[in-house]
Amino acid sequence: MVAYLMDRVRDFWLYFVKRKAKGFAMRNTVNVLGVNVDKVTFDEALDIAEGLVRTEGVSAIFTPNPEIIMCAKEDEKLREILNSAELCTADGIGVVYGAKILGDPVPERVAGFDLTCALLERLAKTGEGVFLFGAKPQVAERAKANLEKKYPGIVISGTRNGYFKPQDEDEIVEEINKSGAKVLLVCLGAPKQEKWIAKHKGMLKVNLCLGVGGTLDVLAGEVKRAPEIFIKLNLEWAYRILKNPSRIGRFMALPKFVIEALKEK
Ligand code: UDP
Repeated sequence: MVAYLMDRVRDFWLYFVKRKAKGFAMRNTVNVLGVNVDKVTFDEALDIAEGLVRTEGVSAIFTPNPEIIMCAKEDEKLREILNSAELCTADGIGVVYGAKILGDPVPERVAGFDLTCALLERLAKTGEGVFLFGAKPQVAERAKANLEKKYPGIVISGTRNGYFKPQDEDEIVEEINKSGAKVLLVCLGAPKQEKWIAKHKGMLKVNLCLGVGGTLDVLAGEVKRAPEIFIKLNLEWAYRILKNPSRIGRFMALPKFVIEALKEK
């Protein structure tokens, strides 16, 4: 209990120091069913992410969708983890509408995949290393090869697939630390990636962890992102169901989420 409280005090202190160090204003968030979501535009989120790459101490960025928020409603630990992040953006149009229903809108959707790509593009110019952790064997390696073509100059410091035994975790942390990466993409799916980051934050030497689900699958070309028109019409979720009907169960969280938001309103 004491150790837990000490951890929370330390998290708060680090968060405050980091924000102050980078001259960031205190976070402007909306509480969506218990999860604090930052009211930031895409460009603001990108600037904050880049600032965190150059700030000592491990920061975390999460990009919750309605499914994760519904999960966090039942799982207090997950809620605390999401709320301890330095930045939590609205991934999924459902969260954007949820905040609107609650009368405290976010400026726009900031999808984890888009934020990651934009950050990697910037890092290709400055040379901070990135470690790719997650997805099935060989996927991270293929993502590395594609990224090196797409963003010449990018430094991919290491890769590791996301299928491991609990006893491998210390070795994975050591591999990440030895790589010298400043940024760690953790792509284990939600809520596994958020919990993994929270568990290992104290041992990692990177400056920024991003929990960004299926990002490596898309970067590797394993999974196709929805066509632009679906994204523009806020129908990416529909495209994902069409491509992979087995995901329908996961999307049932969306109507429940809207009902909960309306109840809260
Ligand atoms: N994954 C992983 N380890 C696991 C479970 C999942 O690395 O133990 C990976 C999986 O291979 C996929 C990603 O996590 O690459 C989850 O992708 P999904 O699109 O489901 O992510 P989400 O929708 O949760 O963002």
